[in-house]
Amino acid sequence: MDHRLATDLRRLPELLGLTLRYAQSVLDGLDERPVVPSRAVGAGGGEGLDEGPGEGLGQGLGQGLGEEGGGVEGALAEFGARWAPWLSASAGGRYLGFVTGGATPAALAGDWLTSVFDQNSNSGLDGAGQALERETVGLLRELFGLGPEHSGTFVSGATLSNTVGLAIAREWLGERLGVSPAEDGAGALGTVRVLSGAPHSSIGKALSVLGLGRNALVTVPTLPGREAVDPVALDRALADTPGPAVVVANAGTVNTVDFDDLTAIAGLKRRHDFWLHTDAAFGAFAGLSPEHAHLVAGLGLADSVCVDLHKWLNVPYDSAVQFTRRQDLQARVFSNAAAYLGPLGPDPDLVHLTPENSHRLRALAAWFTLRAYGRQGHREIVERDIDCARRLGDELAADPAFRLLAPVRLNVVCFTLADRPTPERLAALREAAAGEVFVTPTVFGGTAALRAAFSNWRTTHTDVGRAAQALRTAAKGLG
Ligand SMILES: *Cc1c(COP(=O)(O)O)cnc(C)c1O
Repeated sequence: MDHRLATDLRRLPELLGLTLRYAQSVLDGLDERPVVPSRAVGAGGGEGLDEGPGEGLGQGLGQGLGEEGGGVEGALAEFGARWAPWLSASAGGRYLGFVTGGATPAALAGDWLTSVFDQNSNSGLDGAGQALERETVGLLRELFGLGPEHSGTFVSGATLSNTVGLAIAREWLGERLGVSPAEDGAGALGTVRVLSGAPHSSIGKALSVLGLGRNALVTVPTLPGREAVDPVALDRALADTPGPAVVVANAGTVNTVDFDDLTAIAGLKRRHDFWLHTDAAFGAFAGLSPEHAHLVAGLGLADSVCVDLHKWLNVPYDSAVQFTRRQDLQARVFSNAAAYLGPLGPDPDLVHLTPENSHRLRALAAWFTLRAYGRQGHREIVERDIDCARRLGDELAADPAFRLLAPVRLNVVCFTLADRPTPERLAALREAAAGEVFVTPTVFGGTAALRAAFSNWRTTHTDVGRAAQALRTAAKGLG
């Protein structure tokens, strides 16, 4: 054994202790460190990170691999000095960009143990990993009020969950037309139409990956001033669509967290032939709050459902779940037949259900947090985040420097500057505030805007106060 490896093996308890103490110092410092270090704030594409070596960031770049490593201790020291200061505090309570969750204590413990056990949970051949993953899917089904008709699989994020859902939809279209895209290619389907009101960008990406093409997407009008699809317009669009179609319903849009009427959309199946895929990446969690559960009424009527877990469940990246009523079609798409793998059977191994073959025991972090905090604990996170969003919305609405672009429906505040809301001024505002609060840019209704999304279990009213203060100060600084 290489002498560095042998030394690290001998010192493992001590080195894990060192790493633990380092991890603790990072977590203890979350409240005080910059939410995003100033030189790492990009205008959108992470440009700041490409500015080259300067003060701090990138210091010592270009050392190369070299022959001999520094062991755990050396790697940790180098990481702590060269990289850690430039990573964002996205695990903390004032990182409000995109839709970003943190990691609950139990999720963190589960994630560490995922690496300790280092399972490849893709089959039932080697222990209980796959069974644990299935048990966790069952817990999530309960959490979201789905029934046993929905099977589920873990994937790396909502983009993959949408991709898998639409891959099953593609195979369903084939079934309707008497062909199999999995065998004969997407071309066997002819022209495919995927109808949606305000789909997430990942839907276009999924259609590209699946060979259906981004142009398969037909954007259906939304209700006036809203991001929710107009059910009458959808009815009409379906009537104009020859043959079976796919509808992507949106349960929680990223700009204004608007919800399609899922029950009304499912009701259109009485008149039209379509696969209903619902993107509920973070919106599914509205179901945990009695006051907001009506927003996701009808979620279970979908043929496939996407839910992200590294957002509002607060497990570490990367984790999401894909639910479907047609596991048989899913297995047709993703089956990975080989002599050394098990037969498909009625309950196929996970290797036959997603684009991945090998994968980590991704479910363990979710299992830990669900067992540790239960429905009540996760409801509290969701309700507190909603309350924080409402408070920030109230603070900004009351401030003449700002203007809300939509009511705070759930956990996102979509706002802009009252005076000259140009992308440049908003970027300057964002960067000036980024040490205290990180928000991300968007455009809503043709107006450049900012979004503050609350989905971290750590966020408190104190964070809202600090965030509002930072935004006010930054706005004053713009002149
Ligand atoms: C975040 C999000 C996605 C994509 O999720 P990733 O985890 O980044 O892959 C898809 N749809 C919606 C509605 C989202 O909010």
